[in-house]
Amino acid sequence: MPTFARTVLAPITVEVSAGALARLPELLVDARISAGGRVAVALGPGLGETIATELDHLPDATVHTVKPGSLASARDLAGRLRDDHRVDALVGIGGGKLLDTAKFAATELGLPMVSVATSLAHDGLASPTASLERDGVSVSYGVHPPLAVLADLDFIRRAPVGQLRSGIGDALTNLSAVADWQLSHDVNGEAIDGLAVAIARSGAEAVLRHPGTVSDDGFLTSLAYALVQGGLAMGMAGSSRPCSGGCHEISHALDVLHPGLASHGEQGAVGALVCTWLRGDEALFSELSAAMGRHGLPRTAAELGLTTAELATAVAYAPRTRPGRYTILEHRELDSVALERHLTEMMHELD
Ligand SMILES: [Zn+2]
Repeated sequence: MPTFARTVLAPITVEVSAGALARLPELLVDARISAGGRVAVALGPGLGETIATELDHLPDATVHTVKPGSLASARDLAGRLRDDHRVDALVGIGGGKLLDTAKFAATELGLPMVSVATSLAHDGLASPTASLERDGVSVSYGVHPPLAVLADLDFIRRAPVGQLRSGIGDALTNLSAVADWQLSHDVNGEAIDGLAVAIARSGAEAVLRHPGTVSDDGFLTSLAYALVQGGLAMGMAGSSRPCSGGCHEISHALDVLHPGLASHGEQGAVGALVCTWLRGDEALFSELSAAMGRHGLPRTAAELGLTTAELATAVAYAPRTRPGRYTILEHRELDSVALERHLTEMMHELD
């Protein structure tokens, strides 16, 4: 009997645990990524001393300190590794920016990449995209997804709470992004991938409903899995659709109009809340705002440091940041005056 199934590009190993980093040498062998431990390790500045003991277990590794987050630093890292033909794989150890930098460099060199997350700021752990700064603007590049993903709770527990809040926000945005995808499917007939939706949504729902906080390993584990699932869903869909809709358009608009306002995930979560309000989904709106409140994420214009009119202007600007993506914002086509009215009602509901 013939069997038909799709092939999904997914990491060989995903591990979320305390002490995950210490098991890196073992994983490199078990997953047949590098039998002799001849790997290059990319680290953010300052992390070297903290993980010196773990690196002792990889005596053949070459360690590269990287200033993460820009296209220039990713190209510089690729340049440093280009002539080292002994290297089997690139291991990135750090937060989201470092992992994006390492993913880009590994893709340029055609090297397998292992992602070791020491923080959880966005869904880039396992995703096929890297957000890097070029000429002061954040650009999203398509890259090979990591071959293995480790998230070490010993480090994540100590990560700045702002980074974890960003990760929570980015996970929660999936709920709004998949609703936008469904809308575009219903209105425009855009192809939708039910498996990618299921994976992106179930991770986000676990974060939405988990009663724990960032000081609780159970919650951090759910958050790490949700972010890995987001990356997998994007890889499966072949686009950022399952994790990025009007929510991310609003975040990008805030980046343009109010640079440095809040983190990617915090801005995206406010965007998700606005989109959910405009969609009229009262049940999700109240669950989303409760989860955001519980974790200390901003929900209102004032909490973001804006007036309602400024937020309305950003929401009106948002569709320009992602031409061709149909979301509730393109669907409603509201101008900034109408949006200010909607946002004022939304702020009253949140008071
Ligand atoms: Zn995101």
